[in-house]
Amino acid sequence: MPNRKFNPLFLALVLVLLVSACQQPEKELREKLYVFGTIVEITIRDKDEAAARAALRDVAADFRRMHKDWHAWKPGELSTLNAAIAAGKTAKVSDFLLSLLLQAQRYERTSDGLFNAAIGALVADWGFHNDDLPKGRAPPYAAIRAWVEAKPKVADLVIRDHEVSSSNRGMQLDFGGFAKGEALDRAVLQLKAHGIKNAILNAGGDLNVMGLHSKRPWRAGIRHPKTWGVIATVDLKPGEVLYTSGNYERFLEYEGVRYSHIIDPRTGWPVKHIVSASVIGRNGADADAAATALSVAGPSGWHRIARRMGVKFAMLVDDQGRIYLNPAMKARIQLEDEKAGEVILSPPLF
Ligand code: AMP
Ligand code: MG
Repeated sequence: MPNRKFNPLFLALVLVLLVSACQQPEKELREKLYVFGTIVEITIRDKDEAAARAALRDVAADFRRMHKDWHAWKPGELSTLNAAIAAGKTAKVSDFLLSLLLQAQRYERTSDGLFNAAIGALVADWGFHNDDLPKGRAPPYAAIRAWVEAKPKVADLVIRDHEVSSSNRGMQLDFGGFAKGEALDRAVLQLKAHGIKNAILNAGGDLNVMGLHSKRPWRAGIRHPKTWGVIATVDLKPGEVLYTSGNYERFLEYEGVRYSHIIDPRTGWPVKHIVSASVIGRNGADADAAATALSVAGPSGWHRIARRMGVKFAMLVDDQGRIYLNPAMKARIQLEDEKAGEVILSPPLF
């Protein structure tokens, strides 16, 4: 008769095998994709390399579609709508575009019009719609004044089911202020659908994170507006995002003056005082829009707009190197150089 006696050695061996199967090391898979003129680096930490590769393939296909359909200046659904608006006509939009229009209206409302996705014609006047940096001079004063007086805003859209027109023919939609966030949010949904739990998506310092980096949080750097380094580091919790709007990213340089690609819709002129605004949040598109809006709001208005937009963590840097932040943000970040600039702490945001 075989010996049925319990063999502790055998059990130990089985346990070791089981544990090592569960602890199969996570692999790190890294891929660079391209959307909206930016390289998006996606790093996935997962045991299942095949699932990660399949997820990346689907994200790449989505990015290609978004790049085409959301581009305000290249042939696609958005440029078709812009052409219809300019001609005083109605266009039928997809669910996809409709949800973006409604989103843009919400950002416009909560930012008191500082985030204005109807700013396309002005962005074009300044030359920021080209892939290359604009050259030449600022647009004529009269053109800027005419745009400001026409007051185009996303609220001018007349939306009936999927039929869209505008009561203001001077409006041209440009989703540049939140498209990157929206694209990364959609990529996260795609990765989740493939069962991916741990990843970081990095579009030139704008980030969405999923899960953890092995057992610790993903650590991110907030870009320094003047140098190529980082001004502060922060540990991002699972599902958090970090977005920075910087007037150094794209600009027009003319007679020694730099004009930023972030434009104040109240004046039609580029933002000067704030050189960067960073927001930590839980949704990429919301944080992206908020970072742009806070740049426009400036030192005196950012706190009120941040509250209205539901921002919990924000940091702004002005052209004198002053750092404005709310107490919760201060508690989360580690400044690289404590003496980098005067730190101005605001009242709490929440
Ligand atoms: P971001 O880098 O996210 O701040 O987005 C900047 C882009 O948003 C610009 O290149 C324009 O396409 C667009 N933009 C500029 N000014 C505004 C504004 N006041 N509201 C909304 N979008 C803007
Ligand atoms: Mg933005």
